[in-house]
Amino acid sequence: MSRRKLADLGLDLPLLPTSTVGSFPKPPELVEARAKAARNALTRGELDRLERRATEFWVRTQEELDLDVLVDGEQYRGDMVAYFAATLEGFASGGLVRSYGNRYYHKPVIVGPVRWKAPITVEWWRWTQALTGRPVKGMLTGPYTIMDWSFNDYYPDRRSACLALAREVRKELEALLEAGARIVQIDEPALSVRPEELGFAVEAMHTVVDGLPAYYIVHACFGAFETIYPGLLDLPVENLDLAISHSALDLLAMFEKDPFTKDLSLGVLDVHSHATESPDEVAARIRRGTAVLPADRIWVDPDCGLKTRTVEESRAKLAAMMAGVRAVRAAAAAAAGR
Ligand SMILES: [Zn+2]
Repeated sequence: MSRRKLADLGLDLPLLPTSTVGSFPKPPELVEARAKAARNALTRGELDRLERRATEFWVRTQEELDLDVLVDGEQYRGDMVAYFAATLEGFASGGLVRSYGNRYYHKPVIVGPVRWKAPITVEWWRWTQALTGRPVKGMLTGPYTIMDWSFNDYYPDRRSACLALAREVRKELEALLEAGARIVQIDEPALSVRPEELGFAVEAMHTVVDGLPAYYIVHACFGAFETIYPGLLDLPVENLDLAISHSALDLLAMFEKDPFTKDLSLGVLDVHSHATESPDEVAARIRRGTAVLPADRIWVDPDCGLKTRTVEESRAKLAAMMAGVRAVRAAAAAAAGR
């Protein structure tokens, strides 16, 4: 079903399309430059030059690895929510809070009506897409996660904050589609935080995407999926991206009870581990997916963004992922030819 949607959008992807979740590590000189820029010891222009150089490096790396759907690598972003809040009207920057592990970010505060006033992601998307003939995903942070990872000092409750944000995220999506994006990933890592709020998270997603033509992927990591499944299937998107590499989650049992009705992006690389998976491990993880869903509804990617790994670790893990995918594709081709 979704294959037809891809075809309608002019996208011809191989069996088991491969992609990544969004972020890649920043090369050391860019990390250093960002720290300098933060204390005004580097011009915006110089930082911009390094961000573009790093983005181009990651585009070429993805092409060399032969990934099908590329990302810009988010070399210009710190935190995924703060990045959006910085450009949306109605937010103030708050104090430092811990997100996960030893990572800290300035938790934004909603202090007035949120309003989209200018494109946030479009310029980077356009610039990156111009570097390559392969499709580049548009990347948005979803309204539920922006709401959940912000303080709310303005709206009467979480639902109204979330729905107000959804109307503004839709404007960003419209700008992205107008620029030419055909595959858009909407990051909602906070989705499983409060299962009782899934209803309005779904409502918000309708507000974002309804009537706008693209192939939509929702990335939901940190998941306790069993608490929001099968309700998760109500999201009006084509593809759900779930981390399975190190979860004990038994997809088979879950999907046997409530059939999975969408395309599935299978996270097959543990982004929190230094160890590189073997191609065999990756292939085995893909087969966990093909055991429960037709192969033409499965995409393959890492569990989450790779920004916490080094450049070399990321490259090695993705090379293993691609070798695993090629093995499964070859086996499928051989089976079809029999
Ligand atoms: Zn993630």
